[in-house]
Amino acid sequence: MEKSYTIGDKTFILDQAKAEEAFAAKKVINGKDTMFFNILPLKYQWAYDLYKTMKNNHWEPEDIPMQKDVELWRSSELADVERWIIKMAIGYFSAAEGIVGDNIQHVTRELVTAPELKLVLGRHAHEENIHADSLVYMISSLGINPHECEAMFEDIPTIEKKTDFVVSNSRALRREMNLETTEDKQAFAKNMFLFGQCMEGTQFYGLFGMVLSLYRQNKFPGIGQMFRYTLRDESNHIEVFRNLLMDLIEENEDIWTPEFREELTDLMREAVNLEKEFIRDCLPVNAVGLSADEFCQYIDYIADRRLEGVGLKPLNPGVENPFPWLAEMMDIKKEQNFFEGRVTEYQKASALGSVDDDEL
Ligand code: FE
Ligand code: MN
Repeated sequence: MEKSYTIGDKTFILDQAKAEEAFAAKKVINGKDTMFFNILPLKYQWAYDLYKTMKNNHWEPEDIPMQKDVELWRSSELADVERWIIKMAIGYFSAAEGIVGDNIQHVTRELVTAPELKLVLGRHAHEENIHADSLVYMISSLGINPHECEAMFEDIPTIEKKTDFVVSNSRALRREMNLETTEDKQAFAKNMFLFGQCMEGTQFYGLFGMVLSLYRQNKFPGIGQMFRYTLRDESNHIEVFRNLLMDLIEENEDIWTPEFREELTDLMREAVNLEKEFIRDCLPVNAVGLSADEFCQYIDYIADRRLEGVGLKPLNPGVENPFPWLAEMMDIKKEQNFFEGRVTEYQKASALGSVDDDEL
């Protein structure tokens, strides 16, 4: 079927069949390799929807006041363990956020082929930049020696182990991949699971819980607010990688063998063990309302949600969430948003560019 358009003295003939063929060639991997960024017609609606949600959540670190945090940091009211939690949070996330962004740019976004997937991954990578920048802002506001953060990354063995766990995998995928082979497809699927479900989905949550516990006790309101925004972003990132993995498996059934499912479950088990060791370093003694055992149980609970999210069996069926309040912390209501004016402006602008489903 051909449609022709005459504009002035020119006639353009558009081939509908070719357009439909291009749509059918859209795939998570091994799709039509094109430099043309044809987002429409959308095949992966979830990717475009998440892109919009993520964009509407935009925040900038400098918009969050740090005065109260600085006062508390300098005061003698702060317990050593509370100061240590903040240092571990800043030390770990300073590099961890960048590692996630780097893997997206050099592995995930490189290997996927559909433009709307590249679109949402571009936003995801940018949010990791915002998170990394928020750490720079915290470090400079509190007056922490930047070299100390760098040193933490190399000198604290439990941080080093968590880092090696993901970096070694990411590095292995920066070569010529042959995504026609089951082996390389599985390597890519494993990378998605590792970064989305094990790292961002599970290994970020020990410190999220600790920092937000302090925030809940009215300590570090600025840092706490930034962690709330970050946590809200991470929940979208986990969803991006979950959807990506699910669609990859649906399009490539050879990936999802019983052995491979076992391999991913083992990977999560390892991630949980590393996180528990790390939690015990963050909380060597129990602080007011904070016990390492509860945080470890929380990690078991979170890891099982991630496993179930991708159709894998939980490691600890029936384990309960010791921190139900943490889910509420993520649910940031508009009225609590002090830069609401700006957010509304962003949303207005985006409404102009929105496309109704039936137009697609
Ligand atoms: Fe992040
Ligand atoms: Mn993230």
